Amino acid sequence: MGKINHIFISHLHGDHIYGLPGLISSLALYGKKGELHIHAHSDLQQMMEGMMKFMNEITDLKVKYHPLNFQRNALVFEDKKIRISSFPLKHRISCCGFLFQELPTQLHLDKQALSRYEVPVSQRLNITNGADLILADGTVIPNSQITLPPNPTRSYAFCTDTLFLKKIVPTIEGVDLLYHEATFAGDLAVLAKKTFHSTSVQAAEMAKTAKVKKLVIGHFSSRYKSVLPLVEEARVIFPETYEANDGDCFEL
Ligand SMILES: [Zn+2]
Ligand SMILES: [Zn+2]
Repeated sequence: MGKINHIFISHLHGDHIYGLPGLISSLALYGKKGELHIHAHSDLQQMMEGMMKFMNEITDLKVKYHPLNFQRNALVFEDKKIRISSFPLKHRISCCGFLFQELPTQLHLDKQALSRYEVPVSQRLNITNGADLILADGTVIPNSQITLPPNPTRSYAFCTDTLFLKKIVPTIEGVDLLYHEATFAGDLAVLAKKTFHSTSVQAAEMAKTAKVKKLVIGHFSSRYKSVLPLVEEARVIFPETYEANDGDCFEL
C-alpha cells in the first residue's frame, strides 16, 4: 500500500469514496510520508476536509486534490513512464473514465552489434536515445543497425459507472485491458438504462467494438449471488472476459 501515490476517483457516489478516509488513515498509520494526490471531482475536497480535521496522525502525509474535467477528454498526469487521461462517462452525476498508457521505453542496444563495432561505453546512452554510431574513421552506422525496438507499451482503461457509451470507443480502442462495469445481466437492460449503468452484454459489446485484448467486468449488483451467468453471457460476445474480485491481479 505504501506505493500508492495517486488515487483516481471516477465520481462521488458513496460506493466509490466512502473507503477513502479509511485508506488515507491506514496509509498514515503505516508511516507513509510525502504527498498523496487525489484526482476527483472538485467537491471531494470539501467532503473530505471535515473528516481530515479529526485525523491527527496524518501530519506527515500531505493530501493534494486535483479536480477532473467532466466536459471533455483531458490529460490528468504524465511522467517519463506513463500518461493518464480522463474522459467523460454518462452516469446520474458527473463521472469520468481513466486511460492509463505506458510511454515507450528507450531503444535496446543490440549486443552483437555492440561487440562487432566495439561501441565505446561513452556513446551507448546516446545510441539508446536514437543517435547513430560514428566510428573512428568517420563511418556512420545508422541507429537502426545497432539497436532493437523498445518493449511494447501497455495500456489499461477503467470505465465505471456508466451507461453503454459508444462515443468512448476511439478513446479506449485497442487497450490491453478494459475494466468495464456490468452492474446487471443482459436481461435487465431497461433497468440498467434507467439507473445509468451497463449490463454484462453491453460491457462485452464495448470490448468487442473497441477491439481490446482483455475485459474485466465488475461493479455487480448485490442481487447476484453468483456472477458466473454474467461472465458467461459476456464470453459469448467477447471470450476474453473475466470477473473482478478485490485483490485480483491481471497480468498485461
Ligand atoms: Zn455511481
Ligand atoms: Zn458505483
